Amino acid sequence: MKKHIAFLVLALVLTLSCTVLAEARADRYDLIFDASQDAGRLTARFLQLITRSDDKSGDCTILTSPDGQVMVIDAGNPSTFPDVDRALQALGMTRIDYLVASHPHVDHIGSFAQLLSNYEIGAVYTSELEYPTSHYRNYMEVLERTNTPQIILAEGDSFQFGEHVLVEVLHPPKDIEYYQGYPEGSTQFINNRSLVLKLTYQDSTFLFPGDTYTAAEREIVGRYGDYLQADVLKAPHHGASTSSSKPFREAVNPQVVVMMHDAIADLRIYRNYRRLGAETLITSIDGAVLVSTVGDGAYKVITQFDRLTDFLD
Ligand SMILES: [Zn+2]
Repeated sequence: MKKHIAFLVLALVLTLSCTVLAEARADRYDLIFDASQDAGRLTARFLQLITRSDDKSGDCTILTSPDGQVMVIDAGNPSTFPDVDRALQALGMTRIDYLVASHPHVDHIGSFAQLLSNYEIGAVYTSELEYPTSHYRNYMEVLERTNTPQIILAEGDSFQFGEHVLVEVLHPPKDIEYYQGYPEGSTQFINNRSLVLKLTYQDSTFLFPGDTYTAAEREIVGRYGDYLQADVLKAPHHGASTSSSKPFREAVNPQVVVMMHDAIADLRIYRNYRRLGAETLITSIDGAVLVSTVGDGAYKVITQFDRLTDFLD
């Protein structure tokens, strides 16, 4: 009996201390996914995705234009759909006007089939790159079944995101040539042909370079030089050391960088951006991240969690 009481007391103490710890860590999820603050602003919400499979969780960014259009760039692996769904529901969104696939890897198009089945989709925007895997075929089947228009993009294309935001496609060039044996060993080939999008709203700029590696970065820097400059950068390839080369970092020269990853891909890449003076955030540590602007080149940044230590700096 004594043992039993001691166990109960221990359980109570543990429960209380967990509650206290949970309270100590502020969670601004509701604030980040509150759409009432969006009118007149270009807002990007970088999701913290939790993988429930062997695949890495991947990227997902939900953008709203100043006049209320919705764009989703990438949508994690299939097991992260509950995270994407929760965010869209919290925002009160039932329609995605622009669903963008940066490239057809499973950690980017994983939840597309589920989004196409559960949401009203204006059109899917993607490059011409084809990738014959089961996830890709599944998503293509749902695309056809739901009669969703597909718009193929290549370097030089541009379109409007709502009335006020211009989206320019900086990469990849048209007419992708596949090597013999494709898609065997195609990870680099595919990542280097990610869609690279630059969004401009008056004096504010955002760059979404997918999973491009340094080879593609070299091409893009060569083609665009300083035109690559963007205030807000989604770190290429989840902040891994395959990417974010010096010429690229210096050409983009961002104020805010967001890395979407399950951990910290490479501390050196993080520190390189910090040295440039960029506020550098990692979804695995900071949780979801909101970056928003009225188009004046200044940005409101909200992270879901506070950093409890400064070990990264
Ligand atoms: Zn990826």
